[in-house]
Amino acid sequence: MSEPSIFTRILNGEIPSEIIAETENAFAIRDIAPQAPVHLLVIPKSQEYRNVVELAAGDPALLAELVGLANSLAAEHSDGDFRLIFNTGGGAGQTVFHVHAHVLAGGLAERTLG
Ligand code: 5GP
Repeated sequence: MSEPSIFTRILNGEIPSEIIAETENAFAIRDIAPQAPVHLLVIPKSQEYRNVVELAAGDPALLAELVGLANSLAAEHSDGDFRLIFNTGGGAGQTVFHVHAHVLAGGLAERTLG
């Protein structure tokens, strides 16, 4: 069993961060370093999967649950439109190897990718 990830420690209450939404198998927090007016993280409660490729192969229903939670949060925190980003691998900027979706929203239409 690997060391608890930072997100597991947040879920367990060991590191303070408000859990803003929760489903059976996933939860959401605000990113500590927001890159958009709304920047949330949607995270499986289990750290079994390191990235979205492993998650899609191993538990596609859980991936769908993350997308559904992201959609609900974008409606609640913005106008319903959102960008969903899964950094996959260190070379792409992934720093926490407990799969999570970045949900970016709030006036992004004028911004280019990257
Ligand atoms: P990654 O770089 O792996 O795609 O995304 C990890 C994200 O977790 C980063 O955007 C980073 O700002 C966020 N993050 C790291 N540590 C914490 C923390 O302790 N609390 C919160 N709320 N976000 C964190």
